[in-house]
Formats: sequence, C-alpha cells, structure tokens
Amino acid sequence: MSRDGRSRTRTRTYAAGALALLAFATACGDNGGGGGAAPAAGTTTTPAGPRPTGAAPAGTAATPGATAPAGGDAAAWAKWKLTPLASAPAPPADKPVKLERTGPVPVFSDVKTSDKVVFITIDDGAEKDPKFVEMLTDLKVPISMFLTRDIVKNDYGYFKPLQALGNHIQNHTVDHPVMSKIPPEKQKSEICDDQSALTQQYGTAPLLFRPPFGDGANTPTLNTSVQECGPRAIVLWRESMQIHDMQYQAADKKLKPGDIILAHFRGPKELKGATMTQMFGDLLARIQEQGFSVARLEDYIQAPAS
Ligand SMILES: [Zn+2]
Repeated sequence: MSRDGRSRTRTRTYAAGALALLAFATACGDNGGGGGAAPAAGTTTTPAGPRPTGAAPAGTAATPGATAPAGGDAAAWAKWKLTPLASAPAPPADKPVKLERTGPVPVFSDVKTSDKVVFITIDDGAEKDPKFVEMLTDLKVPISMFLTRDIVKNDYGYFKPLQALGNHIQNHTVDHPVMSKIPPEKQKSEICDDQSALTQQYGTAPLLFRPPFGDGANTPTLNTSVQECGPRAIVLWRESMQIHDMQYQAADKKLKPGDIILAHFRGPKELKGATMTQMFGDLLARIQEQGFSVARLEDYIQAPAS
C-alpha cells in the first residue's frame, strides 16, 4: 500500500466497444506526466517541530486580509497554523457528473468544472488519529472516504464523526487486493462485501468505488463487478498526497479545476514521523498556495434517480 499506481485516465466513460483503446497505466512509478516521481520530502515548507496540540493565540497564523475561511472561523485555522482556504462556491445546480442507475459505470479522475476547486479523497482507513477528527471538526474541509473493510473493521466508529460532518463513505474493497490479479468472482466479493459492511455500519450505500492502486479501473471485468455490487462510478485521481507535497500526473505540477486528490489515513509509521494532521495541514497549504478551495466531490455528482 505504500505506492499507488498512477492513472493517466481523464474523465472517460467506459464504453463496451472501446476496450482496446483503454490502455491503463497501473505500474508503480508511472507518474503520468513524464516528469518522474516527485521526491516526497523535497519540497516541504513545514517547520520541523511538532504541531501545537492546543489552541494557539488567536491571530498568530491567520494571514491578514485572507479570503473568508472555507469552514470554521479564522481562529480555528490559526489553531492549526494554517492560512484559511478560500470559500468554495455553491455546488453547481447542474451536476457535471450524472450517474445512471444501470449499465457500465464511468471512470473518472477529475470533474469538469470551471470552479477553482479540487476534491480531497482519503483512502483505506488505517490511521485513526483523534486529532484528525478534531481538525476536520474545526476546519470543516470536505473529504470523501474510500474505506477498506478489513482495515477499518477494528474501529468503524472512528469514521462516524467524520461522516457526521457531511463527509461520504465510499467503497475501497474488503482487503485491498490488486484487482486485475484476482478472478471475477473474487473481484465481486471484494466489492460487494465491502459495500454491504459499509452500508450496514454507516447507514448509506456507497455510490462510488475506487480500486486499490487504481488497478484494473478500465477493464471490462472490473466494470462488471462494480455494476453487480451497487457503486455507480469508478473514481481515480490526478494528484497523490505524499507527506508534505503531492505527486502530480500533470507535467506542470499544478492543480487544475476539478482535480481529484488522493490521500490516505496514515500515521507516523508511514509518514516518516509526521502525523495525519501534519500531512493534511500540508495538503491544505499546498492547495491554498495555488489559490484553490476544496469542494465536496459528491456535490458535483448527480446520483441516479431512485
Ligand atoms: Zn487504498
């Protein structure tokens, strides 16, 4: 799980007749833009010291004249030593992604929009740091959680306060296999059994699916397996958060409107000593520096009429 595959797939609807065209780069190390892998620790601007665990004096970190905070108030951002993100625009009434109730599911890694927004997705669920719940409660930054049953089942409850903030729970298999290496019936149980566990635990059925490592996303077998289990789209990503900065598929290493960002629930063991909240704070800083705000992915997706 230390590396995720890189997909060059832009928004694209899977079409049954076009399989041969859908070459999908799953190999680790394919950074998609030809720019090579960005060194994870090479561009940090994070102070070496630990983050504060309590409230900092109000105003110490807020930038004077900064745009209105996205969620919580300026003091909340100051507490986490972050410059507030700009507020996201109101969700579009006409959703750029419209999902169908039946048939092949679309595969996408960004959303077509002119809004200067990106979407944060957080995968797996290994690290269950209470400080991250506190951080999101303070900052109200929207996320989508793609959870793997066998990684979260020892503490389903951890994710409930995150869900209560309005964040959606999505499907990321039972035990995180490389989907293209397992037979169709096993693919189906990986997706269907996660779907039923998450639905039971969180009271709502996941609408979206993400294959581990992005692997197999454009194969007809996986598309069929997803269709049989309930999710109505396969979601990939354009950027992958490391420890202090993102790896970009785009050669210019810049966020674009509608990009979907992949991050993980990770702790100091996976982050070379950094905490989940330090990683997430650095992600927000990288987004803020580029003038983007964070919107909720599901607000840009129209679920099938039921
Ligand atoms: Zn994963």
